[in-house]
Amino acid sequence: MATKKINTDPKVVVENKLTALKELDKKGVVAKAKKFSNQYKVVGDKKFKLKDFATNVDNELGKAGKPIAQQLLQFGVQTLAGMQDKLYAQDRWSLLLIFQAMDAAGKDGAIKHVMSGINPQGCQVTAFKAPSHEELDHDYLWRCTKNLPERGRIGIFNRSYYEEVLVVRVHDEILKAQKLPEKLITKSIWDDRLEDMRNFESYLSRNGTMVVKIFLNVSKKEQKKRFLERIDIPEKNWKFSSADLHERKYWKQYMAAYEELIKKTATEQSPWYVVPADNKPFARMVIASAIIAALDSMKLAYPKVSPAQVAELQILKKELLNEIG
Ligand code: ATP
Ligand code: MG
Repeated sequence: MATKKINTDPKVVVENKLTALKELDKKGVVAKAKKFSNQYKVVGDKKFKLKDFATNVDNELGKAGKPIAQQLLQFGVQTLAGMQDKLYAQDRWSLLLIFQAMDAAGKDGAIKHVMSGINPQGCQVTAFKAPSHEELDHDYLWRCTKNLPERGRIGIFNRSYYEEVLVVRVHDEILKAQKLPEKLITKSIWDDRLEDMRNFESYLSRNGTMVVKIFLNVSKKEQKKRFLERIDIPEKNWKFSSADLHERKYWKQYMAAYEELIKKTATEQSPWYVVPADNKPFARMVIASAIIAALDSMKLAYPKVSPAQVAELQILKKELLNEIG
């Protein structure tokens, strides 16, 4: 019996995969994105351990696989753009994407690439740094609620209220400077904050804002490599600050804080995605897929036009065509 020979030359494998990809229709892309992103989705798991999630994923095709990653991302971005158009037209739902990560994990690049096909009118990015005096005069959600996306829009938080159980938890002195009444600084403050965050997201989801949270899971080793690049490459110097090196010393405490917050705030309606971030193109594919999965769950559609409205459009068309001058 003649057996069919399988060509294992990476170049041929890549060509074949690309051809198969190009034949995918929109539904196919969405189905693929959902399946792919699901591997990194956490929806509430008492046993959640960060160490069970990879920071790097080996690409079996190595360098030759790069065009596949690029093609997939391009498909993802196109699909996202189409979905955003419907989100905007329908004007009912909104999507809040929260990006959290250690320094140099690639938040900025991921936001830039994944949202590259999106209509800027329907999207708004807010970066949260150390709070100002005015912000410290309010509860910590105040500055976040002011920047929530309107209906029909995608809002992106580059860092968020989750810093309140990360940097504030790791550095005692930041909590002390928050001007909270002393009586309220109790042992259960972190648990209480996590409960409030879970409730806040549940409140938002009941009001039509879906919150999807993305943790870019970079390794300490890869962070070191990227910091060294920021020091060695003049064009990247501006990205490096001594504060980054300081925070790196608290890696363990940060990881423990991330593990706990993901465990306690990942829910079915507001999942966390723990994205392997050592490989940037791979991370971007996971993120694009996660956003597609979120938008797909909203069952978006263009607003329906009634037969009376269709008839009126035809009358207006006639009027326009018969216009004199
Ligand atoms: P990049 O370094 O890529 O420009 P970034 O998000 O790290 O992006 P930075 O200005 O370096 O931006 O850092 C913002 C800093 O603000 C972070 O160290 C973060 O922990 C801190 N921060 C954010 N929210 C709070 C908060 N509520 N309290 C104290 N510090 C905060
Ligand atoms: Mg920084």
